Amino acid sequence: MNQTARQSDTADLPLTKLKGVGPRVAERLSHLGINTVQDLLFHLPLRYEDRTRITPIGSLRPGDTAVIQGKVQLTEVKFGKRRMLLSRIGDGTGMIGLRFFHFNAQQQQNLARGVTVRCYGEVRVGQQMLEIAHPEYQRVDPDSIPEVQPHLTAIYPVTEGLHQLSLRKLTDQVLDLLTQDRLVLPDLLPADLIRQADQPELKAALLYIHRPPPDAPLDVLSEGRHVMQQRLALEELLAHTLSLRKLRHRSQQQQAPVLKGAGALINNFITALPYTLTGAQQRVVSEIEHDIHQPVPMQRLVQGDVGSGKTVVAAMAVLHAVEAKLQAAVMAPTEILAEQHFRNFSDWLTPLGIHVAWLSGKLKAAARRKALASIAAGEAQVIVGTHALFQEQVEFDRLGLIVVDEQHRFGVHQRLSLREKGAQNGQHPHQLIMTATPIPRTLAMTVYADLDCSVIDELPPGRKPVETVVLPDQRRDDVVQRVEHACREGRQVYWVCTLIEESEALQCQAAEDAARELAEVLSEFRVGLVHGRMKADQKEQTMAAFKNGELDLLVATTVIEVGVDVPNAGLMIIENSERLGLSQLHQLRGRVGRGSQASACVLMYHGPLSENAHARLGIMRETNDGFEIARKDLELRGPGEVLGTRQTGLMQLRIADLQRDQALLPKVMQSADILLKSYPDNVELLINRWIGNATQYAEV
Ligand code: ADP
Ligand code: MG
Repeated sequence: MNQTARQSDTADLPLTKLKGVGPRVAERLSHLGINTVQDLLFHLPLRYEDRTRITPIGSLRPGDTAVIQGKVQLTEVKFGKRRMLLSRIGDGTGMIGLRFFHFNAQQQQNLARGVTVRCYGEVRVGQQMLEIAHPEYQRVDPDSIPEVQPHLTAIYPVTEGLHQLSLRKLTDQVLDLLTQDRLVLPDLLPADLIRQADQPELKAALLYIHRPPPDAPLDVLSEGRHVMQQRLALEELLAHTLSLRKLRHRSQQQQAPVLKGAGALINNFITALPYTLTGAQQRVVSEIEHDIHQPVPMQRLVQGDVGSGKTVVAAMAVLHAVEAKLQAAVMAPTEILAEQHFRNFSDWLTPLGIHVAWLSGKLKAAARRKALASIAAGEAQVIVGTHALFQEQVEFDRLGLIVVDEQHRFGVHQRLSLREKGAQNGQHPHQLIMTATPIPRTLAMTVYADLDCSVIDELPPGRKPVETVVLPDQRRDDVVQRVEHACREGRQVYWVCTLIEESEALQCQAAEDAARELAEVLSEFRVGLVHGRMKADQKEQTMAAFKNGELDLLVATTVIEVGVDVPNAGLMIIENSERLGLSQLHQLRGRVGRGSQASACVLMYHGPLSENAHARLGIMRETNDGFEIARKDLELRGPGEVLGTRQTGLMQLRIADLQRDQALLPKVMQSADILLKSYPDNVELLINRWIGNATQYAEV
């Protein structure tokens, strides 16, 4: 740091104020997202190494990672299959080998007999004695032995042209400034909160995390559970929550059309429904209505277990848009699901005189042109499709509402980008997002802090839980008999073939084979087949035939996973169910038990089962409750995968872990409320500290 550093300097100093940082290094640091001195402080270690003591060679065990020091007894080049350099080091307590596959003459000299060296590396069993392959080493002058590291050694995320050592030296400089109070790093959590929550101070936490003392509990640190790490994890989760809340706040400043009309369409729709809405559906519908009657864009997430009846709720929202003379777009993640929505919405809305259009990536050129023209002209009032709806050159006439089904595949950036694409003349469409992934409330409030949440927490009446059995595939004959029995009773059956080695082709092949075989054995019944490689109209025909009761048995790949709705289907067989995750199994099983008859699901597996697979199938057998299953799924897989955040880039966390740190979430919520209310300046600073300007819109 040069002379200009003063007490008054804030942590937002440019990096070039540090020794050793010129434009080139600054450029490389920026690849790591490090642009200020503060960024460097918050560039946190990935893990630690213990180089704080020298271990006697005689006490080493295979698997240890250690610093050793001793005299070179012998160094020689060996010519085997590969040329290598072998050294032998002794310290009076024992001997150990060093093995190098890549070396030069210089290295050979460095390790000349009689020289004292200090090495660091992982010890393993060698041919004659313990050895270390490619240790880090340095020559040591026996008359002035250097000190060992006074701290655990932090290992940082690095980038091309920027090594651990450089990062460590830079961090050293900044930590020195911090220790000497020459750097002002404001603690952005409210002081009373820190005291109340018994949290260490930020400065103490940072110093500890970058340079843990030699007696620090390495195991606790490597799990990220140390109190100092938790202090930062709290702050990081808080920053993310605040950033989402801010997005929400921003959207509340925007304008949206009020979706309110005469109400005739809605009345006609409700009258024509063959059932009445459940209490939960009615509640959620009125929450939606409250939102869309405001001139502010709705951002609402509806969570509802499979079969809870989300589609009809979405239809009500769509009708409000139509009544207000605006268009509504309904988007689903898969072709099959979008097709089904199209059929549903057409069946419901066409009799009311509403024009429902269909748009998918697979439309032929002429049909697409026609669809696009009718969307642009405003003729198409409701448009159903896959996310081709927003990827392509679609011009809406006046879009008032976007419905996104099964949203767990979309992240915050996609949501934002969708809304922006739908905006016209400063008016933003309302957004309704529906998910069948129920997640615990506190977690939802963190990762969906930009959304209002509604829950359909009630199934339509008369549903009976699906009885689930788990059977090894040796019992296939029994299973086929069971299928035969069900068909004979007039119930329809799904037979699901699962993904083999991530290959759709093989999966389709397996489904074709299964269909052929089952059609032979069950020759008196009508067997159909759907898989991802069939033509769309062929798929649709088969699905329609199954839905109309013209097929008894439907053999399918997991393409039917989401949303497919055939209430008379009472039995589902899933082959190789051990290959599927909990939420996928739950989604699939949700295809049965939609009518009022008792239904069953047979999970066939191919043994032996891994511990995890065993646990999954056990959970499926025990419960039908989507929330319970989601909780277990979080335990087994972690939130990133459950919420699909890993793919979508939502919440890229440096030190916090949504699963490990769930206990912090209530405190995060509480802090967020306090900060927004009483410390609005700190909100910006916190977001900037942890997220920077990374919150940019991504492509859908
Ligand atoms: P999901 O929430 O999984 O998308 P769907 O919207 O597909 O559920 O609805 C599942 C089934 O429940 C459909 O057959 C639908 O017609 C039926 N359903 C929805 N609401 C009710 C209700 N209130 N009473 C009876 N059946 C209903
Ligand atoms: Mg659905």
